[in-house]
Amino acid sequence: MTARLDEKLEPIFQDVLRRNPGEVEFHQAVHEVLETLGPVLVKHPEFAERKIIQRICEPERQIIFRVPWQDDNGEIHINRAFRVEFNSALGPYKGGMRFHPSVYLGIIKFLGFEQIFKNALTGLPIGGGKGGSDFDPKGRSDAEIMRFCQSLMTELYRHIGEYTDVPAGDIGVGGREIGYLFGQYKRITNRYESGVLTGKGLSYGGSRARTEATGYGTVFFTQEMLKARGDSLEGKTVVVSGSGNVAIYAIEKAHELGAKVIACSDSSGIIVHESGIDLDTVKRIKEVERRRISAYTEFHKDAKYVEAGNIWSVPCDVALPCATQNELNGTDAATLVKNGCIAVAEGANMPTTPEGIQIFQSAGLAYGPGKAANAGGVSTSALEMQQNASRDSWSFDFTQKRLEEIMINIHRDCFETAEEFGAPGNYVLGANITGFIKVARAMDAMGLI
Ligand code: GLU
Repeated sequence: MTARLDEKLEPIFQDVLRRNPGEVEFHQAVHEVLETLGPVLVKHPEFAERKIIQRICEPERQIIFRVPWQDDNGEIHINRAFRVEFNSALGPYKGGMRFHPSVYLGIIKFLGFEQIFKNALTGLPIGGGKGGSDFDPKGRSDAEIMRFCQSLMTELYRHIGEYTDVPAGDIGVGGREIGYLFGQYKRITNRYESGVLTGKGLSYGGSRARTEATGYGTVFFTQEMLKARGDSLEGKTVVVSGSGNVAIYAIEKAHELGAKVIACSDSSGIIVHESGIDLDTVKRIKEVERRRISAYTEFHKDAKYVEAGNIWSVPCDVALPCATQNELNGTDAATLVKNGCIAVAEGANMPTTPEGIQIFQSAGLAYGPGKAANAGGVSTSALEMQQNASRDSWSFDFTQKRLEEIMINIHRDCFETAEEFGAPGNYVLGANITGFIKVARAMDAMGLI
């Protein structure tokens, strides 16, 4: 943690540290927001008097449960799952489920905390929540994934609902997993409650453009940041970390808007393809065959695979971190700046460390934090909820248009708030303050909740 906190905010942060020991990612996410809230308390002393920040830092409800399941050989496994229902001032708790061995309460709380402000920024009626499990889906068969999802939902069903809490996907949870989860929810409750989960398949209530939404939204946001500087994505070289759902659709939209993506990665290594990443190959490897990205060179002899390579050392105009938290540190940020990078937009949640953020900001490049830049995913989830509530189904073009408008509005709100609070171009401050004020006003109007 780099910047110092305002004297009113430091004790609040100390309290968060004391009450949530060991949850380092959660501490980081809270610190990043508190760093920017000082000026809000000057303008709105009532938020300090009514302890809105202290209340926002404490989840409304945290659920931790056991998920027992059997693998294909009959062996029994016990995983731990979480659902942190963080804030419902603006709507039902909303946020994805993450399946990854690194998951523990601190990760889910950081993600849930971020989600409060992100969801507020969308302007749609959704609160903030997040869930997940330390289950590792890598190498598991479809049948194992199904049994795990069914076991997890056998407990989770009692805590969620279209007006209560609406989970979706995140790392390790995509269309397949949402299908198994929805099937089990429907079976247990005997309700066809479409709006209880988002990211559903198109055959049973999903929204067109939801799969693409996070990656597309990140690129729409990047385009807006560049526009604000009189520039555009046309002809830019782009580096995208990751090769999952967010990365794939960020690459697709970047190509559509005339940029050239020259590198992507997975947790084993990086692919550099100077003539441009071939997305059909990435989709085939990752979405169909579920293999490692190293397989890319089997299809493209002129591409280079570097085991454990650092993607941020590949020179580019625009960098889109779309993999995971803290994947881009201070050294990486300095390398990007040195290589002439002009814009960074986060498709992942909290991918840049505090040191990295500081380097980007003092270099004056356009830096779009995840809360704003990756809000397209959850926005389209909210559009899915709208379609489900009205028993309707929209076209791809109409849904994508709505997504684009939402991203343009988020960019404009963050941009204008940053100007209003005397920090032009600071999208971190713009996003945090815009999101915070929306939630704080709603909480304050509802009495002491
Ligand atoms: N996991 C995604 C996010 O980080 C999407 C959440 C959702 O659609 O509810 O925003």
